[in-house]
Amino acid sequence: MALDLVFLGPPGAGKGTQARKLAEAFGLAQLSTGDALRAAAEAGTKAGKAAMKAGSLVSDEIVNAIVAETIDTEEYVNGAIFDGYPRTLAQAAELDLILKSRGRHLSLVLSLEVDDMMVVQRISGRFTCGNCGEGYHNNFKQTKTEGQCDQCGGTDFKRRADDNADAVATRLAEYHRETAPLIEYYREQNKTQSVNAMQAIDKIASDLSTLVKNAGIQPV
Ligand code: ADP
Ligand code: ZN
Repeated sequence: MALDLVFLGPPGAGKGTQARKLAEAFGLAQLSTGDALRAAAEAGTKAGKAAMKAGSLVSDEIVNAIVAETIDTEEYVNGAIFDGYPRTLAQAAELDLILKSRGRHLSLVLSLEVDDMMVVQRISGRFTCGNCGEGYHNNFKQTKTEGQCDQCGGTDFKRRADDNADAVATRLAEYHRETAPLIEYYREQNKTQSVNAMQAIDKIASDLSTLVKNAGIQPV
């Protein structure tokens, strides 16, 4: 049976960082709609072009289409860790349908709790490896060797254009308005588990791992 999980939390909470670690530990595949949209935009696909045209406000329709398309690829037959999706109640309702029509359902929703000040600090120092996507931070998670990715040895790093103080304020307001209600939406279905995401990366990872194991999911 497929195992499908969702990571909830504001931008910069550490969803990508933790989803990546959890995916590796439990043999699951991470599905980041943000990464998928940015890749689609770079590749110039139909959905990508529509996303670029829409600016930062990508419609539910586009994102849902990307998810439905992606989840049918071989990589996700055993399940997905959704990171950055759903972001609205409408998307959550659609995800339920997407999974249901494939005989699947969400097993667990992991909510990463951080305050807004921490979000700004994390986002303003964030960068990723351009080759393998590993996430880093100027202050909190530097590469072991300067200028070289710990995971793949890559030397080309990327910073997102919207990772600046102005854009963060807008994204945070959007999160509180559109996405935070999902914590309650899934709590009513007994799916939400919260974690204190103000801790060190490895401590959060071990807290998450405990929650996932308690839900009956075993590491590989
Ligand atoms: P999200 O996917 O939720 O937007 P990221 O996983 O990209 O967040 O994390 C945001 C930034 O904060 C990255 O630079 C990451 O290296 C750093 N980071 C993530 N978790 C922690 C943590 N627990 N402590 C300190 N820095 C962190
Ligand atoms: Zn790398």
